[in-house]
This record gives sequence, C-alpha cells and structure tokens, in this order.
Amino acid sequence: MTDAADPRSRIPGTDALLALPRLAKAQDILGRDVVKAAIATAQQRARAGEISPDDVADAALDALPATASQCRPVLNATGVLVHTNLGRAPLSAAALDAIQAASGTTDVEFDLATGSRARRGRGTLAALADAVPNAEAVHVVNNNAAALLLCALALAPGKEIVISRGELIEIGDGFRIPDLLESTGAVLREVGTTNRTTARDYADAIGQDTGFVLKIHLSNYLVTGFTATPSVRELGELDAPLIVDIGSGLLAPHPALPDEPDAATVLRDGADLVTASGDKLLGGPQAGLLFGDEALVTQLRRHPSARALRVDKLTLTALEATLRGPEPPVTRALNADPTALTARADRLAARLREHGIDAQAVRSEAMVGGGGAPGVILPSAAVSLPESYAAALRMGDPSVVGRVERGRCLLDLRTIDVEADDRLLEALRACG
Ligand SMILES: *Cc1c(COP(=O)(O)O)cnc(C)c1O
Repeated sequence: MTDAADPRSRIPGTDALLALPRLAKAQDILGRDVVKAAIATAQQRARAGEISPDDVADAALDALPATASQCRPVLNATGVLVHTNLGRAPLSAAALDAIQAASGTTDVEFDLATGSRARRGRGTLAALADAVPNAEAVHVVNNNAAALLLCALALAPGKEIVISRGELIEIGDGFRIPDLLESTGAVLREVGTTNRTTARDYADAIGQDTGFVLKIHLSNYLVTGFTATPSVRELGELDAPLIVDIGSGLLAPHPALPDEPDAATVLRDGADLVTASGDKLLGGPQAGLLFGDEALVTQLRRHPSARALRVDKLTLTALEATLRGPEPPVTRALNADPTALTARADRLAARLREHGIDAQAVRSEAMVGGGGAPGVILPSAAVSLPESYAAALRMGDPSVVGRVERGRCLLDLRTIDVEADDRLLEALRACG
C-alpha cells in the first residue's frame, strides 16, 4: 500500500485545522490551548482508524466544551426547587439580559446626567425598597452569611448576641451560624432550651452587654411536639435591637407557604432588621439582603468590613432585574399547577415510549429545599425511567439530574421550566 492510499496520510495538519473558520471562532471563545487539545485528540482518533480523516474537524468541534468554564449547565429534575448543589436559584431571562448589558463598563456608581459619582447600585436599592415598602433602608452584601457577619461586626463588637438554643443551626456543608457569629469576637448568650424558649428567657438575658437579639428561621428542619418559641411581635417588645434571619428570602407572604416568614411581615411585627438570601425563594443571584431601621443600616454600611462583603455590579443588576422583571424560574416552579405538570409528564412519557423507552408518568412530591419551607410538600408529576438512566442522564448533554427512588429514575417536572421540555427529550433520546 502506498502512502497516498493510506487514509492516515489525509489527516489534516494542526495549523490547517486551527485556521478553519469554525475552529478559529472556537479559539476566540475557548482559547487556543483547549482547541488544540481537541484537535490532537481527533487526529489521534483518525490515526487509530476510529474516524475518517474527513471528520477530524467535526470531531474536534464536537469535543469542545460550550464555554471556557468547566461549569456545565444542568437540568434540575430533582423536584427540589432551591438545590444548593445545583447552584440554587436559576436566574430569570430578565436577569441574564441585565447581566449581559452590565458586563462591560456601566454606570453602577456613576450619574450620567451630572457626570459625577453616584450611589452604588441605586437602582437595585430602589427596587428592594419598592418590594418591601415598610423597610426604612436596605443594604446588599455577598450572601446571607455575610449579612449576619456584618450585623455581628457592626452591632455587637465585644458584646453579646442573645439567641435561643433552639436556633443554633448548621446551614449545610458544615457551616454553623453560631461559629460564624463567634468568629467576629461577639459572645453568644444562649437562652432557653432546644425545644422551648420563652420571651422571659430573652428578657432575663438582656442587659448592658447586649448587642442585639437574633432570631433565626429554622429553614432546613422542623422541631415538633412539646415546643415553644416567642413570636417576632413578643421579641420586638424587648429592650434590645431585634434582628431576624428569615433565610429563604420571601419579601411578602406567599399563599403556598403560609409558615414561611417574609420580610415585610417580620418588619411590621417589630423586627429592627431582617436578613435573607437572594438566591433562595426570591429566585435571584447569590446575595445577602438587609432590610430595616435606617440608623442600623447606616451603621452596617459605614462599617469597614462592609467593603469586603459588597457585591459586584453583575449581582446588583441581576437582583434588580429579578425584582422588576417577570416571575423568575423559582417562583414559576412554586406556582406551577399540578394538573399541568401531570399533563406534561403524560405527554413526555408517551413521546419516550414511541422511541422504545420504558417511561411512565407518575405522581411526585417536590419541595422547596434547604432554602426554606421544611416539611412542605408541593404536589408534582414526574417521568419515571429505569434506574440506569440516572447516571447516563447526569453525564449527558445537557446534563439532567433526577432522583432515584425504589429502583426507578424519576424526573420531576416542577423544577424544569416547560420551555426546557424539548431539551429534556433530546437528552433522554441521546441515552435511550
Ligand atoms: C440559607 C440560610 C442562611 C445562609 O444564607 P447564604 O445566603 O447561603 O449565606 C442563613 N440563615 C438561614 C436561616 C438560611 O436559611
């Protein structure tokens, strides 16, 4: 066999491949090294006879990641609305557009009309103030943990934070709120017991050394049975500032979650400050939100560590767009009609069976997740598949993460936007 007849001699060279418009464009997005590595792998496959030399460019392109980041997009089919391991709240289209627009240089801290410096993130602060009209002032930091940290640093330096023994909680991944607060040098003054704490317990502990009273919402577990906790209203009567960490970030009451506290109600009931996460039930970017008393918020804003906890322009703009724009995905998932979810599950399962896949529509139970409303079940519907699909779907493109229950892989539709159904079908067919 002559060289010319050997198909391997037709494998295109690296420089020629790099110069192809499609692969040149990929270098603009992914960088030269990543593209070169994909080309080398494709050439190797052609040499091994796995692919035709004519397909080397396509194979290299197919092997390229979609972005220059290792983070892969995932369809959340777990039925857990706010899934910490999957990045919590998915952003709304409005938030994504706003991020895109603000990603260059922008007027985040500049007044275009006067040409002088302006209050950073004023549009976001105005949107938060509109969302919680009874808050005198608002402030945004990196996350809710940062909001608590700032409160401790600015409002209880060398002082005591009065807190119930029933609320000394771990948020997840080993992060404990008591440790966070103590790391500032503040002293925790624990009152009551694990299951019962009364207003009297708090009152007895308050004195000259008190920085503030802290009430923390039990966002990821329930204490039931012989229990007692004073209401925000009772705690608001005490002779010390009251800070309430509501956790999940509802700004106003939601009918589906009657036991989940919201910022407006908690302030009305007598809290001086409320802290919350931006990327749980509010459905926005990771952020820590602070609402409440003007003088206290000013103390927080002016504390030196405020600068270390501040958020970037992308977070500010995404938060504003979440508040001003249409319902974000988390809210849509929360409000989804179970009948419509069942109809979707029926339709998807039927389509999959047409492709010979053992799929059934089943009832399912979704939940808010670590971000709030423990114990609340949101009726839902799922597509049930053989268990082997779980791993294949995880590794697919797009990746789909479901739930394995009693030997079946369940894909809960409450946490998947209806507009993603086609992508879900595509991912399923690819591993069917
Ligand atoms: C989630 C949560 C936190 C931590 O919020 P991050 O935004 O993740 O820092 C603090 N307190 C409560 C009650 C929570 O639910």
